[in-house]
Amino acid sequence: MGYVLQLDGDKQLLKRYYAGQQMESPNGGYLMLLGVRSGADGGSVGIFECSVSSLRYEIAIPKATRAERKKVKEAVDEGEEPECPRHGYTHRLVRAGKDLVCGSCGIAYGKA
Ligand SMILES: [Zn+2]
Repeated sequence: MGYVLQLDGDKQLLKRYYAGQQMESPNGGYLMLLGVRSGADGGSVGIFECSVSSLRYEIAIPKATRAERKKVKEAVDEGEEPECPRHGYTHRLVRAGKDLVCGSCGIAYGKA
């Protein structure tokens, strides 16, 4: 890993990330997702690389809210395949141990 910069709580960037849109880098160019790792308190951290500068950025992805967990639980209770409350129907949640996790958020939204 090279030098990693923090992009703190950038809600606009996260909104674009969830929508699958291109995210502008502070240095020009775009941020490309390298991966997601677990963060503290049920949250996760998205690791991005700038397409121009190759600098790396971390964006904290907040943990599931009560409303998001409720939505997922309702889908499970109704026998549906739950989708990511942030990414939408293109991202089904996958089982990871006892948790239902979105692979792109790295966030657990419910129990399988
Ligand atoms: Zn997601």
